[in-house]
Amino acid sequence: MLNIVLFGPPGAGKGTQSQKLLDKYNLIHLSTGDLLRSEIAAGTALGLEAKKLMDNGLLVPDEVVIGMIENKVKENRQAAGFIFDGFPRTVPQAQGLDKLLQDNDTEISAMIALRVDDEELTKRLLLRGQTSGRPDDQNEELIRKRVQEYNTKTRPVADYYAGQGKYYAVDGIGEIEDIFKALCQHIDALKEKQEENK
Ligand code: ADP
Repeated sequence: MLNIVLFGPPGAGKGTQSQKLLDKYNLIHLSTGDLLRSEIAAGTALGLEAKKLMDNGLLVPDEVVIGMIENKVKENRQAAGFIFDGFPRTVPQAQGLDKLLQDNDTEISAMIALRVDDEELTKRLLLRGQTSGRPDDQNEELIRKRVQEYNTKTRPVADYYAGQGKYYAVDGIGEIEDIFKALCQHIDALKEKQEENK
């Protein structure tokens, strides 16, 4: 299986690039942000709880997102692989994911980070807020809160995968197509290595 963690701060372009990668490599897209928003839209108890946190720019509890991901991985055992987008966002989530994949006889192939500076991120998120209708993209204070959550809780996840020799990064500023090509280069190299080891 080809299991990629697409990593980066809010607004880095993970959603956009995930869409292109899953088309090309035939992978399943697992975005915890999307999964949580569908729980909210369906008005479930989980969604109601999550909404309070999301509307304040805070992370939802680890057990909640790990549980959602576990269900999806189990539903898709036959898949060629997964792209994890917006997950794992904390080190305990990364540990939970490792365990869950191990239980399903697979593992993370690589984390690829999209590098974008804070100023560009705020600009992109405010722009997205004008069209997406996402409440968490509409004010600068909330965006700053999310970036702060990212810097304190999520950034260490990169070190976690670096420690496993699985961390790669590409420049997330520039043309969407160029960023996509840079991502594909890393993924193609991984696939080649997987083939060699078969
Ligand atoms: P963005 O990457 O632009 O912040 P997401 O759609 O990934 O957007 O996430 C939106 C919100 O959903 C986050 O601010 C957070 O409250 C919640 N969320 C999403 N994924 C996770 C996760 N893995 N762990 C905790 N909270 C999450």
